[in-house]
Amino acid sequence: MFESLSDRLGKIFDGLRGRGALSENDVNEALREVRRALIEADVSLEVVRAFVEQVRERAVGVEVTRSVTPGQQVVKIVHDELVRVLGETAVPLDTATTPPATILMVGLQGSGKTTTTAKIAKRLKDKQNKKVLMASLDTRRPAAMEQLRVLGSQIGVDTLPIVPSETPVQIARRAAREGKLGGYDVLMLDTAGRTHIDEELMAETAEIKAVSDPHEVLLVADALTGQDAINLARSFDQRVDLTGIVLTRVDGDGRGGAALSMRAATGKPIKLIATGEKMDALEDFYPSRIADRILGMGDIVSLVEKAAETVSAEDAQKMAKKLKKGQFDLEDLRGQLLQMKKMGGMGGLMGMMPGVGQLKKAMAGANIDEKIFDRQVAVINSMTRKERANPDLLNASRRKRIAAGAGVEVSEVNKLMKQHRQMADMMKKVSKGGLGSLAGMFGG
Ligand code: GDP
Repeated sequence: MFESLSDRLGKIFDGLRGRGALSENDVNEALREVRRALIEADVSLEVVRAFVEQVRERAVGVEVTRSVTPGQQVVKIVHDELVRVLGETAVPLDTATTPPATILMVGLQGSGKTTTTAKIAKRLKDKQNKKVLMASLDTRRPAAMEQLRVLGSQIGVDTLPIVPSETPVQIARRAAREGKLGGYDVLMLDTAGRTHIDEELMAETAEIKAVSDPHEVLLVADALTGQDAINLARSFDQRVDLTGIVLTRVDGDGRGGAALSMRAATGKPIKLIATGEKMDALEDFYPSRIADRILGMGDIVSLVEKAAETVSAEDAQKMAKKLKKGQFDLEDLRGQLLQMKKMGGMGGLMGMMPGVGQLKKAMAGANIDEKIFDRQVAVINSMTRKERANPDLLNASRRKRIAAGAGVEVSEVNKLMKQHRQMADMMKKVSKGGLGSLAGMFGG
Protein backbone atom coordinates (compact mmCIF):
# COMPACT_ATOMS: atom_id res chain seq x y z
CA MET A 1 0.00 0.00 0.00
CA PHE A 2 1.03 3.61 -0.48
CA GLU A 3 3.71 2.57 -2.93
CA SER A 4 3.54 5.29 -5.53
CA LEU A 5 4.06 8.09 -3.06
CA SER A 6 6.96 6.27 -1.49
CA ASP A 7 8.58 5.69 -4.88
CA ARG A 8 8.20 9.31 -5.74
CA LEU A 9 9.73 10.66 -2.56
CA GLY A 10 12.46 8.03 -2.75
CA LYS A 11 13.58 9.47 -6.05
CA ILE A 12 13.64 13.02 -4.75
CA PHE A 13 15.69 12.25 -1.71
CA ASP A 14 18.10 10.06 -3.59
CA GLY A 15 18.84 13.19 -5.57
CA LEU A 16 19.52 15.11 -2.40
CA ARG A 17 21.71 12.49 -0.84
CA GLY A 18 25.43 12.87 -1.01
CA ARG A 19 25.47 16.65 -1.14
CA GLY A 20 27.63 18.56 1.29
CA ALA A 21 25.17 21.11 2.51
CA LEU A 22 21.48 21.79 2.22
CA SER A 23 20.88 25.01 0.37
CA GLU A 24 17.58 26.82 0.19
CA ASN A 25 17.42 25.70 -3.42
CA ASP A 26 17.65 22.12 -2.32
CA VAL A 27 14.80 22.58 0.10
CA ASN A 28 12.68 24.29 -2.53
CA GLU A 29 13.38 21.65 -5.11
CA ALA A 30 12.55 18.91 -2.66
CA LEU A 31 9.37 20.65 -1.60
CA ARG A 32 8.24 21.06 -5.20
CA GLU A 33 8.58 17.34 -5.60
CA VAL A 34 6.94 16.63 -2.27
CA ARG A 35 3.99 18.75 -3.36
CA ARG A 36 3.73 17.00 -6.72
CA ALA A 37 4.01 13.58 -5.09
CA LEU A 38 1.30 14.37 -2.58
CA ILE A 39 -1.04 15.65 -5.27
CA GLU A 40 -0.41 12.54 -7.31
CA ALA A 41 -1.13 10.52 -4.19
CA ASP A 42 -4.53 12.20 -4.24
CA VAL A 43 -4.05 14.19 -1.06
CA SER A 44 -6.45 17.10 -1.27
CA LEU A 45 -4.89 20.38 -2.38
CA GLU A 46 -5.70 22.23 0.79
CA VAL A 47 -3.87 19.67 2.89
CA VAL A 48 -0.94 19.57 0.48
CA ARG A 49 -0.46 23.31 0.74
CA ALA A 50 -0.53 23.32 4.50
CA PHE A 51 1.74 20.31 4.73
CA VAL A 52 4.40 21.72 2.43
CA GLU A 53 4.44 25.01 4.32
CA GLN A 54 4.92 23.24 7.64
CA VAL A 55 7.83 21.30 6.22
CA ARG A 56 9.36 24.44 4.75
CA GLU A 57 9.17 26.24 8.07
CA ARG A 58 10.93 23.41 9.75
CA ALA A 59 13.48 22.72 7.03
CA VAL A 60 14.81 26.17 6.20
CA GLY A 61 17.30 27.41 8.69
CA VAL A 62 17.71 24.06 10.35
CA GLU A 63 21.34 23.40 11.05
CA VAL A 64 22.68 20.37 9.35
CA THR A 65 24.05 18.06 11.96
CA ARG A 66 27.40 16.54 11.13
CA SER A 67 26.37 12.96 11.54
CA VAL A 68 23.66 13.03 8.88
CA THR A 69 23.51 14.12 5.27
CA PRO A 70 21.29 17.08 4.37
CA GLY A 71 19.03 14.70 2.48
CA GLN A 72 18.57 12.58 5.57
CA GLN A 73 17.72 15.69 7.49
CA VAL A 74 14.93 16.60 5.06
CA VAL A 75 13.67 13.04 5.09
CA LYS A 76 13.53 13.22 8.87
CA ILE A 77 11.62 16.49 8.81
CA VAL A 78 9.11 15.25 6.23
CA HIS A 79 8.77 12.00 8.14
CA ASP A 80 8.14 13.73 11.46
CA GLU A 81 5.63 16.02 9.84
CA LEU A 82 3.81 13.09 8.21
CA VAL A 83 3.65 11.32 11.54
CA ARG A 84 2.42 14.49 13.20
CA VAL A 85 -0.33 14.99 10.62
CA LEU A 86 -1.28 11.31 10.62
CA GLY A 87 -1.53 11.43 14.39
CA GLU A 88 1.60 10.44 16.40
CA THR A 89 0.28 7.30 18.07
CA ALA A 90 -2.30 4.63 17.34
CA VAL A 91 -5.64 5.41 18.97
CA PRO A 92 -7.57 2.27 19.88
CA LEU A 93 -11.32 1.87 19.85
CA ASP A 94 -12.80 2.95 23.14
CA THR A 95 -15.49 0.74 24.64
CA ALA A 96 -14.82 1.53 28.29
CA THR A 97 -18.10 2.96 29.48
CA THR A 98 -21.31 1.79 31.12
CA PRO A 99 -22.43 -1.09 28.91
CA PRO A 100 -23.55 -1.29 26.29
CA ALA A 101 -20.90 0.96 24.70
CA THR A 102 -22.60 2.15 21.54
CA ILE A 103 -20.58 2.46 18.33
CA LEU A 104 -22.32 4.39 15.57
CA MET A 105 -21.09 3.61 12.07
CA VAL A 106 -21.63 6.35 9.49
CA GLY A 107 -20.58 6.92 5.89
CA LEU A 108 -21.56 6.72 2.27
CA GLN A 109 -23.23 3.74 0.68
CA GLY A 110 -20.72 1.24 -0.65
CA SER A 111 -17.90 2.48 1.54
CA GLY A 112 -17.80 -0.88 3.32
CA LYS A 113 -19.83 0.15 6.35
CA THR A 114 -21.74 -3.08 6.87
CA THR A 115 -18.69 -5.26 6.26
CA THR A 116 -16.62 -3.14 8.63
CA THR A 117 -19.33 -3.22 11.31
CA ALA A 118 -19.14 -7.01 11.29
CA LYS A 119 -15.33 -7.00 11.24
CA ILE A 120 -15.15 -4.77 14.30
CA ALA A 121 -17.77 -6.87 16.10
CA LYS A 122 -15.76 -10.01 15.39
CA ARG A 123 -12.56 -8.39 16.62
CA LEU A 124 -14.19 -7.22 19.87
CA LYS A 125 -15.63 -10.68 20.41
CA ASP A 126 -12.48 -12.66 19.57
CA LYS A 127 -9.81 -10.40 21.02
CA GLN A 128 -11.55 -8.70 23.92
CA ASN A 129 -14.14 -11.28 24.74
CA LYS A 130 -16.94 -8.75 24.39
CA LYS A 131 -20.58 -9.64 23.98
CA VAL A 132 -21.67 -7.66 20.94
CA LEU A 133 -25.06 -6.85 19.42
CA MET A 134 -25.30 -5.44 15.90
CA ALA A 135 -28.28 -3.62 14.42
CA SER A 136 -28.88 -2.29 10.92
CA LEU A 137 -30.78 0.99 10.68
CA ASP A 138 -30.87 0.91 6.89
CA THR A 139 -34.64 0.84 6.46
CA ARG A 140 -34.46 1.84 2.81
CA ARG A 141 -32.53 -1.23 1.79
CA PRO A 142 -33.89 -4.43 3.30
CA ALA A 143 -31.00 -6.24 1.61
CA ALA A 144 -28.57 -4.30 3.80
CA MET A 145 -30.33 -5.48 6.97
CA GLU A 146 -30.26 -9.02 5.68
CA GLN A 147 -26.56 -8.66 4.80
CA LEU A 148 -25.74 -7.74 8.40
CA ARG A 149 -27.80 -10.61 9.74
CA VAL A 150 -25.98 -13.10 7.49
CA LEU A 151 -22.58 -11.71 8.47
CA GLY A 152 -23.60 -11.90 12.13
CA SER A 153 -24.46 -15.57 11.91
CA GLN A 154 -21.19 -16.21 10.05
CA ILE A 155 -19.05 -14.67 12.76
CA GLY A 156 -21.21 -15.73 15.70
CA VAL A 157 -22.38 -12.26 16.70
CA ASP A 158 -26.01 -11.48 17.55
CA THR A 159 -28.05 -9.11 15.39
CA LEU A 160 -31.20 -7.30 16.43
CA PRO A 161 -34.22 -9.11 14.95
CA ILE A 162 -35.53 -7.30 11.89
CA VAL A 163 -38.95 -5.67 12.33
CA PRO A 164 -40.21 -4.29 9.01
CA SER A 165 -41.81 -0.83 8.95
CA GLU A 166 -39.84 0.58 11.90
CA THR A 167 -38.03 3.89 11.39
CA PRO A 168 -34.26 4.14 11.97
CA VAL A 169 -34.88 6.03 15.20
CA GLN A 170 -37.30 3.35 16.43
CA ILE A 171 -34.75 0.67 15.65
CA ALA A 172 -32.05 2.61 17.48
CA ARG A 173 -34.26 2.82 20.58
CA ARG A 174 -35.15 -0.86 20.44
CA ALA A 175 -31.47 -1.74 19.98
CA ALA A 176 -30.51 0.29 23.04
CA ARG A 177 -33.18 -1.47 25.12
CA GLU A 178 -32.16 -4.90 23.89
CA GLY A 179 -28.50 -4.01 24.46
CA LYS A 180 -29.19 -3.30 28.12
CA LEU A 181 -31.64 -6.12 28.80
CA GLY A 182 -29.53 -8.65 26.93
CA GLY A 183 -26.40 -7.77 28.92
CA TYR A 184 -24.36 -6.75 25.89
CA ASP A 185 -20.98 -5.01 26.30
CA VAL A 186 -21.09 -3.33 22.93
CA LEU A 187 -23.89 -2.23 20.61
CA MET A 188 -22.99 -1.51 17.01
CA LEU A 189 -25.35 0.58 14.90
CA ASP A 190 -24.91 0.33 11.13
CA THR A 191 -26.64 3.34 9.59
CA ALA A 192 -27.98 3.82 6.08
CA GLY A 193 -25.77 5.50 3.52
CA ARG A 194 -26.33 7.46 0.33
CA THR A 195 -24.21 7.57 -2.75
CA HIS A 196 -23.30 11.15 -1.93
CA ILE A 197 -23.60 13.59 0.94
CA ASP A 198 -27.01 15.25 1.17
CA GLU A 199 -28.99 17.09 3.80
CA GLU A 200 -31.46 14.26 4.34
CA LEU A 201 -28.68 11.81 5.13
CA MET A 202 -26.99 14.23 7.49
CA ALA A 203 -30.23 15.05 9.29
CA GLU A 204 -31.10 11.40 9.73
CA THR A 205 -27.60 10.54 10.97
CA ALA A 206 -27.71 13.42 13.44
CA GLU A 207 -31.10 12.33 14.75
CA ILE A 208 -29.90 8.77 15.26
CA LYS A 209 -26.89 10.09 17.08
CA ALA A 210 -29.08 12.14 19.38
CA VAL A 211 -31.24 9.18 20.44
CA SER A 212 -28.50 6.57 20.67
CA ASP A 213 -25.89 8.63 22.54
CA PRO A 214 -22.94 6.72 21.09
CA HIS A 215 -19.55 6.35 22.76
CA GLU A 216 -17.82 6.16 19.38
CA VAL A 217 -18.94 7.67 16.07
CA LEU A 218 -16.86 6.13 13.32
CA LEU A 219 -16.77 7.38 9.76
CA VAL A 220 -16.23 4.50 7.35
CA ALA A 221 -14.51 5.87 4.26
CA ASP A 222 -13.10 4.33 1.13
CA ALA A 223 -9.34 4.93 0.76
CA LEU A 224 -9.95 5.49 -2.94
CA THR A 225 -12.14 8.53 -2.28
CA GLY A 226 -9.53 10.96 -3.61
CA GLN A 227 -10.07 14.71 -3.63
CA ASP A 228 -13.53 14.34 -2.05
CA ALA A 229 -12.08 12.81 1.08
CA ILE A 230 -11.65 16.12 2.79
CA ASN A 231 -15.27 17.24 2.16
CA LEU A 232 -16.67 13.90 3.16
CA ALA A 233 -14.81 13.77 6.46
CA ARG A 234 -15.47 17.39 7.25
CA SER A 235 -19.22 17.19 6.51
CA PHE A 236 -19.74 14.21 8.77
CA ASP A 237 -17.51 15.63 11.47
CA GLN A 238 -19.39 18.92 11.54
CA ARG A 239 -22.78 17.25 11.81
CA VAL A 240 -22.14 14.28 14.06
CA ASP A 241 -18.77 15.01 15.68
CA LEU A 242 -16.75 11.94 14.74
CA THR A 243 -14.56 10.15 17.27
CA GLY A 244 -12.58 8.34 14.60
CA ILE A 245 -12.22 7.15 11.02
CA VAL A 246 -11.97 3.67 9.56
CA LEU A 247 -10.30 3.60 6.18
CA THR A 248 -11.46 0.76 3.92
CA ARG A 249 -10.07 -0.73 0.70
CA VAL A 250 -6.55 0.13 1.75
CA ASP A 251 -5.67 -3.08 -0.12
CA GLY A 252 -6.58 -1.40 -3.39
CA ASP A 253 -4.93 1.95 -2.75
CA GLY A 254 -1.41 2.58 -3.95
CA ARG A 255 -1.48 6.23 -3.07
CA GLY A 256 -2.51 6.79 0.48
CA GLY A 257 -3.74 10.32 0.07
CA ALA A 258 -7.09 9.84 1.79
CA ALA A 259 -5.52 8.98 5.13
CA LEU A 260 -3.57 12.20 5.15
CA SER A 261 -6.47 14.34 3.89
CA MET A 262 -9.11 13.10 6.29
CA ARG A 263 -6.92 13.22 9.31
CA ALA A 264 -5.69 16.71 8.48
CA ALA A 265 -9.21 17.98 7.70
CA THR A 266 -10.83 16.75 10.90
CA GLY A 267 -8.03 16.16 13.36
CA LYS A 268 -9.83 12.92 14.18
CA PRO A 269 -7.74 9.76 14.43
CA ILE A 270 -7.79 7.00 11.86
CA LYS A 271 -8.45 4.14 14.22
CA LEU A 272 -8.48 1.14 11.94
CA ILE A 273 -7.78 0.19 8.35
CA ALA A 274 -9.60 -2.47 6.33
CA THR A 275 -7.49 -4.38 3.87
CA GLY A 276 -9.84 -6.82 2.19
CA GLU A 277 -13.28 -8.38 2.03
CA LYS A 278 -12.60 -11.18 4.53
CA MET A 279 -13.84 -10.79 8.10
CA ASP A 280 -10.34 -10.64 9.58
CA ALA A 281 -9.00 -8.05 7.12
CA LEU A 282 -8.96 -5.29 9.72
CA GLU A 283 -5.81 -3.78 11.21
CA ASP A 284 -4.76 -1.11 13.68
CA PHE A 285 -3.53 2.09 12.12
CA TYR A 286 0.05 2.99 12.99
CA PRO A 287 0.95 6.51 11.86
CA SER A 288 4.71 6.05 12.02
CA ARG A 289 4.67 2.83 10.05
CA ILE A 290 2.56 4.47 7.37
CA ALA A 291 4.86 7.50 7.30
CA ASP A 292 7.88 5.20 6.91
CA ARG A 293 6.24 3.54 3.97
CA ILE A 294 5.22 6.80 2.41
CA LEU A 295 8.83 7.90 2.52
CA GLY A 296 10.15 4.67 1.08
CA MET A 297 12.16 3.88 4.13
CA GLY A 298 10.54 0.51 4.05
CA ASP A 299 8.81 -1.32 6.79
CA ILE A 300 11.98 -2.40 8.54
CA VAL A 301 10.03 -3.81 11.44
CA SER A 302 8.16 -6.30 9.31
CA LEU A 303 11.29 -7.15 7.35
CA VAL A 304 13.11 -8.08 10.53
CA GLU A 305 10.12 -10.01 11.85
CA LYS A 306 9.79 -11.92 8.62
CA ALA A 307 13.49 -12.72 8.54
CA ALA A 308 13.36 -13.96 12.10
CA GLU A 309 10.50 -16.29 11.23
CA THR A 310 12.28 -17.72 8.23
CA VAL A 311 15.86 -18.13 9.39
CA SER A 312 16.26 -20.60 12.19
CA ALA A 313 18.77 -19.74 14.89
CA GLU A 314 20.78 -22.85 14.05
CA ASP A 315 21.08 -21.96 10.38
CA ALA A 316 22.07 -18.45 11.30
CA GLN A 317 24.84 -19.66 13.59
CA LYS A 318 26.20 -22.09 11.03
CA MET A 319 26.24 -19.30 8.49
CA ALA A 320 27.94 -16.93 10.88
CA LYS A 321 30.72 -19.43 11.56
CA LYS A 322 31.35 -19.96 7.88
CA LEU A 323 31.33 -16.25 7.24
CA LYS A 324 33.96 -15.76 9.89
CA LYS A 325 36.19 -18.19 8.04
CA GLY A 326 35.37 -16.52 4.76
CA GLN A 327 33.73 -19.62 3.33
CA PHE A 328 30.75 -19.56 1.04
CA ASP A 329 30.22 -22.56 -1.20
CA LEU A 330 27.41 -23.49 -3.56
CA GLU A 331 25.66 -25.40 -0.79
CA ASP A 332 25.42 -22.10 1.08
CA LEU A 333 24.20 -20.30 -2.02
CA ARG A 334 21.43 -22.88 -2.39
CA GLY A 335 20.42 -22.26 1.22
CA GLN A 336 20.28 -18.55 0.56
CA LEU A 337 18.18 -18.99 -2.58
CA LEU A 338 15.68 -21.21 -0.81
CA GLN A 339 15.45 -18.76 2.03
CA MET A 340 14.82 -15.83 -0.28
CA LYS A 341 12.08 -17.81 -1.95
CA LYS A 342 10.48 -18.58 1.41
CA MET A 343 10.50 -14.93 2.32
CA GLY A 344 8.32 -14.13 -0.64
CA GLY A 345 10.90 -13.91 -3.37
CA MET A 346 12.58 -10.75 -4.52
CA GLY A 347 9.23 -8.96 -4.75
CA GLY A 348 8.23 -9.63 -1.18
CA LEU A 349 11.66 -8.92 0.25
CA MET A 350 12.52 -5.87 -1.74
CA GLY A 351 9.19 -4.18 -1.17
CA MET A 352 10.08 -4.04 2.48
CA MET A 353 13.60 -2.75 2.10
CA PRO A 354 14.46 0.93 2.13
CA GLY A 355 14.85 2.72 -1.15
CA VAL A 356 14.27 -0.27 -3.36
CA GLY A 357 10.95 0.74 -4.83
CA GLN A 358 12.63 1.97 -7.97
CA LEU A 359 15.03 -0.90 -8.20
CA LYS A 360 12.10 -3.27 -8.02
CA LYS A 361 10.44 -1.45 -10.88
CA ALA A 362 13.59 -1.58 -12.95
CA MET A 363 13.84 -5.30 -12.38
CA ALA A 364 10.24 -5.84 -13.32
CA GLY A 365 11.03 -3.95 -16.52
CA ALA A 366 13.98 -6.22 -17.18
CA ASN A 367 11.60 -9.16 -16.95
CA ILE A 368 13.21 -10.92 -14.04
CA ASP A 369 10.79 -13.57 -13.00
CA GLU A 370 10.77 -15.28 -9.69
CA LYS A 371 11.00 -18.76 -11.17
CA ILE A 372 14.67 -17.94 -11.50
CA PHE A 373 15.15 -19.13 -7.91
CA ASP A 374 13.75 -22.53 -8.82
CA ARG A 375 16.01 -22.85 -11.85
CA GLN A 376 19.08 -21.79 -9.91
CA VAL A 377 18.32 -24.28 -7.17
CA ALA A 378 17.83 -26.96 -9.85
CA VAL A 379 21.28 -26.14 -11.24
CA ILE A 380 22.89 -26.57 -7.83
CA ASN A 381 20.92 -29.77 -7.27
CA SER A 382 22.43 -31.21 -10.46
CA MET A 383 25.94 -30.88 -9.08
CA THR A 384 27.76 -33.52 -7.08
CA ARG A 385 28.54 -32.78 -3.46
CA LYS A 386 32.19 -32.39 -4.33
CA GLU A 387 31.36 -29.83 -6.97
CA ARG A 388 29.18 -27.85 -4.61
CA ALA A 389 31.95 -27.70 -2.04
CA ASN A 390 34.61 -26.85 -4.59
CA PRO A 391 33.25 -24.80 -7.49
CA ASP A 392 36.71 -24.66 -9.10
CA LEU A 393 36.11 -28.22 -10.31
CA LEU A 394 33.44 -27.00 -12.70
CA ASN A 395 35.09 -27.15 -16.11
CA ALA A 396 33.25 -26.82 -19.42
CA SER A 397 32.19 -30.45 -19.70
CA ARG A 398 30.91 -30.59 -16.12
CA ARG A 399 28.92 -27.41 -16.70
CA LYS A 400 27.38 -28.95 -19.81
CA ARG A 401 26.36 -32.04 -17.83
CA ILE A 402 24.87 -29.91 -15.06
CA ALA A 403 22.91 -27.74 -17.51
CA ALA A 404 21.43 -30.82 -19.14
CA GLY A 405 20.53 -32.26 -15.75
CA ALA A 406 18.73 -29.07 -14.68
CA GLY A 407 17.12 -28.51 -18.06
CA VAL A 408 18.72 -25.11 -18.62
CA GLU A 409 21.24 -23.55 -21.02
CA VAL A 410 24.95 -23.68 -20.13
CA SER A 411 24.89 -19.88 -20.05
CA GLU A 412 22.59 -20.02 -17.07
CA VAL A 413 25.05 -22.25 -15.22
CA ASN A 414 27.80 -19.79 -16.06
CA LYS A 415 25.72 -16.91 -14.76
CA LEU A 416 25.08 -18.67 -11.51
CA MET A 417 28.78 -19.41 -11.10
CA LYS A 418 29.59 -15.77 -11.63
CA GLN A 419 26.98 -14.75 -9.10
CA HIS A 420 28.43 -17.19 -6.61
CA ARG A 421 31.94 -15.87 -7.23
CA GLN A 422 30.76 -12.33 -6.48
CA MET A 423 28.95 -13.34 -3.34
CA ALA A 424 31.89 -15.42 -2.13
CA ASP A 425 34.21 -12.44 -2.66
CA MET A 426 31.85 -10.25 -0.70
CA MET A 427 31.71 -12.78 2.10
CA LYS A 428 35.51 -12.83 2.24
CA LYS A 429 35.53 -9.10 2.71
CA VAL A 430 32.95 -9.43 5.43
CA SER A 431 35.04 -12.02 7.23
CA LYS A 432 38.10 -9.78 7.14
CA GLY A 433 36.19 -7.41 9.34
CA GLY A 434 35.54 -4.66 6.88
CA LEU A 435 31.85 -5.26 7.19
CA GLY A 436 31.89 -7.03 10.52
CA SER A 437 28.47 -5.87 11.41
CA LEU A 438 27.03 -7.82 8.50
CA ALA A 439 28.32 -11.05 10.02
CA GLY A 440 26.67 -9.94 13.23
CA MET A 441 23.40 -9.81 11.41
CA PHE A 442 23.61 -13.52 10.77
CA GLY A 443 23.96 -14.22 14.45
CA GLY A 444 27.77 -14.21 14.84
P1 GDP B 1 -21.86 -0.43 2.68
O1 GDP B 1 -22.84 -0.11 1.59
O2 GDP B 1 -21.11 0.78 3.10
O3 GDP B 1 -22.48 -1.14 3.83
O4 GDP B 1 -20.75 -1.39 2.02
P2 GDP B 1 -20.56 -2.95 2.16
O5 GDP B 1 -20.09 -3.30 3.53
O6 GDP B 1 -21.77 -3.65 1.66
O7 GDP B 1 -19.32 -3.17 1.19
C1 GDP B 1 -19.40 -2.95 -0.19
C2 GDP B 1 -18.43 -3.88 -0.91
O8 GDP B 1 -17.09 -3.55 -0.57
C3 GDP B 1 -18.60 -5.33 -0.51
O9 GDP B 1 -18.48 -6.12 -1.66
C4 GDP B 1 -17.43 -5.60 0.44
O10 GDP B 1 -17.04 -6.93 0.42
C5 GDP B 1 -16.37 -4.68 -0.12
N1 GDP B 1 -15.39 -4.26 0.88
C6 GDP B 1 -15.62 -3.76 2.12
N2 GDP B 1 -14.46 -3.46 2.75
C7 GDP B 1 -13.46 -3.76 1.90
C8 GDP B 1 -12.01 -3.67 1.96
O11 GDP B 1 -11.41 -3.24 2.93
N3 GDP B 1 -11.33 -4.08 0.85
C9 GDP B 1 -11.97 -4.57 -0.25
N4 GDP B 1 -11.21 -4.94 -1.28
N5 GDP B 1 -13.30 -4.67 -0.34
C10 GDP B 1 -14.05 -4.27 0.71
